[in-house]
Amino acid sequence: MRAASALAGWLVARRAPAAADSEKINAFWPAVDTRSMLDRVMQMAEGMMFRCAIDGEWTMHLVSDGCLELTGYTPAELVGNRAVSYEDITHAEDRQAVRETILAAVAEGVRYRVSYRIRCRDGVEKWVLERGCRICDERGQWVLEGFVEDISERVHSRDALAEAEARYRSIFEHSTEGIFQTTADGRYLSANPALAAIYGYESAAELIGDLQNIGAQLYVDPQRREAFKRIMAESGAVHGFEAQIRRRDGSVIWISENARSVLGPDGEFLYYEGAVQDITANKQYQEQLEHQASHDLLTGLPNRNLLNDRLQQAISHAERNGYFAVVAFIDLDNFKYINDSLGHLVGDELLVEIARRLQFCLRSTDTVARYGGDEFVLVLNNHYAVGSIVHVLDRVLTEIQRPVLAAGQELFVTCSIGLSLYPSDGGDAQSLIKNADAAMYLAKSRGRNNYQFFTHRLNTLATERVTFEGSLRRALEREELHVYFQPKIGKDRRPLGFEALIRWNSAEHGWVPPDKFIGIAEETGLIEPITEFVLNTACLQAVTWSRAGYGDLNMAVNLSARSLQQTDVTALVAKVLSQTGLDPQRLEIEITESMIIGNVDRSLATLHKLKALGVRLAVDDFGTGYSSLSYLQRFPVDILKIDRSFVRDLDVVACDSHIAKLVVLLGHSLGLIVVAEGVETESQYEYLEALGCDEYQGFLFARPLAPGDIETQILRLPAVTV
Ligand code: C2E
Ligand code: MG
Ligand code: MG
Repeated sequence: MRAASALAGWLVARRAPAAADSEKINAFWPAVDTRSMLDRVMQMAEGMMFRCAIDGEWTMHLVSDGCLELTGYTPAELVGNRAVSYEDITHAEDRQAVRETILAAVAEGVRYRVSYRIRCRDGVEKWVLERGCRICDERGQWVLEGFVEDISERVHSRDALAEAEARYRSIFEHSTEGIFQTTADGRYLSANPALAAIYGYESAAELIGDLQNIGAQLYVDPQRREAFKRIMAESGAVHGFEAQIRRRDGSVIWISENARSVLGPDGEFLYYEGAVQDITANKQYQEQLEHQASHDLLTGLPNRNLLNDRLQQAISHAERNGYFAVVAFIDLDNFKYINDSLGHLVGDELLVEIARRLQFCLRSTDTVARYGGDEFVLVLNNHYAVGSIVHVLDRVLTEIQRPVLAAGQELFVTCSIGLSLYPSDGGDAQSLIKNADAAMYLAKSRGRNNYQFFTHRLNTLATERVTFEGSLRRALEREELHVYFQPKIGKDRRPLGFEALIRWNSAEHGWVPPDKFIGIAEETGLIEPITEFVLNTACLQAVTWSRAGYGDLNMAVNLSARSLQQTDVTALVAKVLSQTGLDPQRLEIEITESMIIGNVDRSLATLHKLKALGVRLAVDDFGTGYSSLSYLQRFPVDILKIDRSFVRDLDVVACDSHIAKLVVLLGHSLGLIVVAEGVETESQYEYLEALGCDEYQGFLFARPLAPGDIETQILRLPAVTV
């Protein structure tokens, strides 16, 4: 108790108010028993008040009741080191430091503060803070008086805080995202190394020092910074805010930002903070994807999707300005043969070149799109007269028909173009394309390598074509196809042979001339069974007539372009010859020039193979196609048939300028047999005879006839002279 009173005295002394104050207080509460009050405080205090000797054990003279809670030992156990000394309770690792701190303060006569660990009775470690000072006790000896409190919780939370801080630092320093704090007027308060790297700076400090006006220095479009601030003001945060940024070296990148406004306790704006990602690669990838979605991979031209957009634009443009919007549907005429015979790589090469040429023909405001396989669509803007459209189309036709060098060879293609005009031929993109497509078919049926404008009648034609195709498909099985024969006459007007010409007597369409269905049969592939049918029928007929005693007559059969380029026509001819037993010398295969030019090398090879079978080859309709002397020299042909248009001209054009004359001369100079077809009048015949033509064919002698009629009208005539 003595010790407790002494401690109370020390506390009173420590807290003694100024003399004037204490007088006032004493005047107010004269009866306060400070001693018992201090005893209560000692009992209640969370922590341990103590007085101890300055010795090796810190031998306690007195401790408050808090000793038990703090250390797990009762005051009785600790005082006088009865069970344990305070030196023992002090953590072994901290003892030395604690002693040094206290002794230093004792030596100087000042108060001390020291925190350290103690080990409690139950083995638990606690952090404590001890505050104290030396005093001279009642016996005149230096002792310590002080207070020890448990600060474990504080220490732990401080450690946790430090740890969290270090963790945050590490994230900030090592994040791959750029992290920042900026002011509203566009300066950096802080930035991490990743942000510096994204913006092209060596360090964050350099970035913070250099950028004083983010909007002007960083943003490619300073308006984006304004937009950022506006969104911030409205909603307090941005998510995935994208902008283009100019890096320190001037290169431009795309970034995406997540940021928020940081507000003070009173809701006042303090700064922005957030994170930045470089999304340039993503953007490029995205752009690439968008490009792929709207462009054709092979040619790089816009695809159907983009075509639709462009066409919509052209329509609204035309509507506003009163111009035409023109859709030109282009289909290559002999692409399929090239693709099938030379392979897709060569086909691709050809398409890329055609795409390039089409682009070259157009203005930058026009569009050329790849619509599918060998189909292209042009959208022409700002045309106010049909004349200017025609000008573009002529250029396209000329450009396309120039030879293309692919895989080391010259390829020739032409194209057929169908046109529709807004507003007259359709009010929307789909109907304009549909009608241009219909017009393209008209161009095909009119001999290809030309363009046709859409007329409303074409719609009906297009529908008719579908039923027509269906009928043609059934024609063979319904036995509607027949082979007629037209005599070919020699110098003495005697028939030397016949040309086999197909006839179609359709249940739905009546007699259909070959010109009307051969093209469609080629497009649909029906030409193959048809060719086989004609070849077989004609050869069989020649053998039959020969066996009937009408002599060895020649038989000419027309071969379509598709057969020559695609099917193994040599195998077919060989098969038919062997099945029918016709002497190959008697068979003449008629081809047109346009068949040869699609794929020159392949055609040449096929012709040589046919020649090897022993058959003869004739160039039909000579003078209407590419009429090239070099082809005639290179190809193994035997017969030249002057096109009937030149024979017709004989009646109207002055004799000297007749092309027929030149063709006869040319043919003979190459050692070829020259045949004139379409001879209708005696005067034509006389003139051709004078030129030295070898054979004649025409209505003057006979029309194409059914086999029965040939027998009665031609072969069974007494003098076999027509
Ligand atoms: P082409 O091979 O030039 O056949 C000659 C065409 O001229 C025939 O027309 C014939 O009827 C016609 N013609 C003959 N003499 C005269 C005449 O004096 N005046 C007039 N104006 N015309 C005459 P056709 O039979 O209508 O055949 C047309 C074309 O169809 C043929 O022209 C040929 O290229 C093709 N063709 C006919 N049959 C076949 C066939 O079986 N297969 C293939 N691939 N094409 C065929
Ligand atoms: Mg012919
Ligand atoms: Mg002909």
